Amino acid sequence: MLDQSNELNAWDRDHFFHPSTHMGTHARGESPTRLITGGEGVYITDSTGKTSLDAFAGLYCVNVGYGRQKIADAIAEQAKNLAYYHAYVGHGTEASITLSKMIIDRAPENMSRVYYGLSGSDANETNIKLIWYYNNVLGRPEKKKIISRWRGYHGSGVMTGSLTGLDLFHTAFDLPRAPILHTEAPYFFRREDRSQTEEQFSQHCADKLEEMILEEGPDTVAAFIGEPILGTGGIVPPPAGYWAKIQTVLDRYDILLVADEVVTGFGRLGTMFGSDHYGMKPDLITIAKGLTSAYAPLSGVIVGDKVWEVLVQGSDKLGSIGHGWTYSAHPICVAAGVANLDLIDELGLVENAGSTGAYFRSELAKAVGGHKHVGDVRGDGMIAAVEFVEDRDDRKFFDPAKKIGPQVAAALAERNVIGRAMPQGDILGFAPPLCLTREEADIVVKAAAEAIDEVF
Ligand code: PLP
Repeated sequence: MLDQSNELNAWDRDHFFHPSTHMGTHARGESPTRLITGGEGVYITDSTGKTSLDAFAGLYCVNVGYGRQKIADAIAEQAKNLAYYHAYVGHGTEASITLSKMIIDRAPENMSRVYYGLSGSDANETNIKLIWYYNNVLGRPEKKKIISRWRGYHGSGVMTGSLTGLDLFHTAFDLPRAPILHTEAPYFFRREDRSQTEEQFSQHCADKLEEMILEEGPDTVAAFIGEPILGTGGIVPPPAGYWAKIQTVLDRYDILLVADEVVTGFGRLGTMFGSDHYGMKPDLITIAKGLTSAYAPLSGVIVGDKVWEVLVQGSDKLGSIGHGWTYSAHPICVAAGVANLDLIDELGLVENAGSTGAYFRSELAKAVGGHKHVGDVRGDGMIAAVEFVEDRDDRKFFDPAKKIGPQVAAALAERNVIGRAMPQGDILGFAPPLCLTREEADIVVKAAAEAIDEVF
C-alpha cells in the first residue's frame, strides 16, 4: 500500500480520481492506493518491495508480460525521431502502415482496413458510427438498431456504455437506451432450463435473438455485437454451436456482425483471433489491449471488405468521412504495436496461450473444481474463471452483499497472486500474460486453492 506518511498518499487521496473506484472510501483514505513501481515477466512490484504474480495481465492486456526491452526501444526510438504527426488526409508513418499490413495478415478472412483509436471504447464508438454510415449510404436510414448481449462489455463511453450489458456501468448515468437492445447472454452455467444441452441452449439463444429481430422489424436492425468469449461479464465461453447459430440468424436478416476482440485479439484463446477460434464471420472487429500489450494505448477497428466497399461509395458521394481522432495511429503507439506483434511471433505466444493455457485450466479444475462452493470452472486458451455458489446441487448463488468474489480475490492477493473479482456474480477471473510458464501456472493454482479454502 502507499506509505501513509508519504505526501503522495495525500495527493492521491485529494486529487486523483481513479477509474472504477469507490469514490467515498478512496477519498476518506479507507482503501489506500497500491503504488506499483515495476514489472518484469509476469510479476509486478509495489512501493513496499512486495512482488505479485499478475495472473490478470493488468486488465487482460499485458499479453507479452512486463519489461520487454524490444517494445521499450521501439517506443523510445519513435519518440526521438518523430513523437507525433497526425494521420488525417492521407498522412502516415512507416509504423502505421506496417502495423496495418501486419494486422490484416493476421486477421480472419475478408478483412481489409484498420482504423485506429486509443481505447476499446473509442473503437466501438467508431464501429457504431460506421454501421450507421454504412446503412445511410445504402439508403436504409431505418436500419440502425444494434443488438448487444446482457453481460457483454464493450466500453464506458456514452454509446458503448449502452452496449455494455452490465448494470454497474449504467447506474445513474442516463445512458441512451435506444437504439441499443440487449439479448440473452450465452451463459450455459446460469441457463434457466437446466435440462438443456449446450447445443439446445445455443439454439435457445439464437431463437431469442431472432424473436427480438422480428419484434423490432428486421429492417430496423443493423448489427449484432459480441465478444467471442464473454469477458468482463464473467469469462463465459460460448456453448457448443452458439456462434454458428447466431450467424445463421444474422445472415437471414442482413445484419452485420461485430466481433469485439479487445480481449481475445492477438492470441488469448490460442489462436490469433477469437473469431477464427469459434468460426465467427465478422464484418467488423474491435481490437485494443493485446495489440500493443498495453505498452502504449492503441485500439482499432478492422473493417471487412463488405463494409469497406460501401464506405468508399460513401466518400464518393459525400466527401471525406467526418470521423477522426487527433491520436489516430499515434506514431509512438503504432511503433509499440509493430514491436509487440513481432515479439508475439518470436516468442510463440499464441501457441503458448493454447498449450500452457490448457495446462493451467486443467490444473485449476483439478485443484478447485471439487470444492463444495465451486459451481463452475471454465475458460478457454489463457483465460479462466471460477464461479462460486452457496449450494452446488441447487445451483444457489450467494447473496451479492457477502462479496464472496472480492473476498477470494483478496485472499489470493495475500498470497502474492493477482486475480480479478469479476464485477457481476461471485467469479474469480484469470487472464495471465500469454508468456505464463507451467511453473508459474502451478503457483497461481496453488494460491487459488489456498485462498478458496481460507474464505470457506
Ligand atoms: N471491449 C471489451 C471486450 C473489453 O473487455 C473492453 C475493456 O475491458 C473494452 C471493449 C473497452 O476498452 P477500453 O477500456 O480500452 O475502453
